[in-house]
Amino acid sequence: MKEIHIPEGINFDCTGCGNCCLMWPVPITNTDHLSLSSLSYSELQPATLSNQLFRPLHSNDPKLNVFTHTLEKRQDGKCKFLTQENQCWLHQQYGPQTKPAMCQLFPYTFNQTPSGVYTYLSFASTGVLLNSGQALTEQTELLRQKWDLFCRLFPGLSMNWSNIQLIDGYPLAWNEYMHLDQELLRLIKVGGPKQIDKTLAELSHYLVNVLPREINLEKLPPVKARTKVIDQVLINYLFHLYLPDDVFANQPTDLNSRTLLQSLIEPPETVRLNSSGKTGSFQELKDLALGELDQDSEDLLWRFIYCRVFAKLYFGAGFANLSILAGMHHLVVLIVLVRLKLKLLALTHPQAKPSFLETLEIVRTLERRLTQISLSQESTVILEVLLTSPERMQRILFLAS
Ligand code: SF4
Repeated sequence: MKEIHIPEGINFDCTGCGNCCLMWPVPITNTDHLSLSSLSYSELQPATLSNQLFRPLHSNDPKLNVFTHTLEKRQDGKCKFLTQENQCWLHQQYGPQTKPAMCQLFPYTFNQTPSGVYTYLSFASTGVLLNSGQALTEQTELLRQKWDLFCRLFPGLSMNWSNIQLIDGYPLAWNEYMHLDQELLRLIKVGGPKQIDKTLAELSHYLVNVLPREINLEKLPPVKARTKVIDQVLINYLFHLYLPDDVFANQPTDLNSRTLLQSLIEPPETVRLNSSGKTGSFQELKDLALGELDQDSEDLLWRFIYCRVFAKLYFGAGFANLSILAGMHHLVVLIVLVRLKLKLLALTHPQAKPSFLETLEIVRTLERRLTQISLSQESTVILEVLLTSPERMQRILFLAS
């Protein structure tokens, strides 16, 4: 039996808000389909029943080969079983075990590594975003059941951790990584929510210092763009990838690496961030000091970083096969993107402090996108080149301060 590792200080109970039951079609297994097909739906609203409830799933994704159908959605994009009170009709009428297996699993997920299974919770869930409910460390039996369910739903999922690298070309054995991992988690815990920027800089600094001194992390292939323009172009591309205005629209799941390269070879005059009808130059965003966010927002960003590092969902098989340093810097950039989006929202009302609700919805979008993103090898190479620079990380952190 594999050891299940559980993050400390992380809580979850469903808040029943119904926000998890929006937009994306839920994949269901053949067992779900048979069991749901045998139920009586006479008490469901007629409008819900006017079309079919399930749609056959034809997916080429090997991770989804257990799933045979998806739940149909209503015209407003919500699940057909979501009631007007935002409750699951199946749960209400027939009990929690009647819900499709994917709904029962959410928001729990797991990452399999050579040192055991690491628990992660999706930050698309309101309960997770609010850290509401019982501590995960007190849910060990439930976590074991969720892990069994996860194994049934994703039987062929295998994580290849045999090729982890500190940076490209510097391989690391798993037990050597675990040594670093302990120190990274210690730095995160010591830093705590109030010092997230400082903690991110320390994580970067710690990993850079593990590398042999002769490595030049600032060396780039010849491009025309100046250093700061490279920062801005990179941020702009990642911003649109991870924080699109409409997360449920048909969004690209990869960086447009060719046009990104083109922008570095033929740099634009100015780079502006645009979002939700707002626009700002990087100079304007830099001039607007965000400072410390409210306590709840700082806590949330801290938990997001802690959970990703704890579950090893930021490098290697855990994320896009990035090296450990590039993966950590990618995490730094994700927090910077959240802060830049808050700055952009604040541009028109510079006196108003961003609200926790704004931060929460941005993190929810980010998490939703992270589950969709599938970076090509080309994109990974570009990120590896651009994200290993510690000086770039310092500048980017400063930009979002
Ligand atoms: S079946 Fe129930 S829990 Fe699952 S998405 Fe629909 S409303 Fe939500």
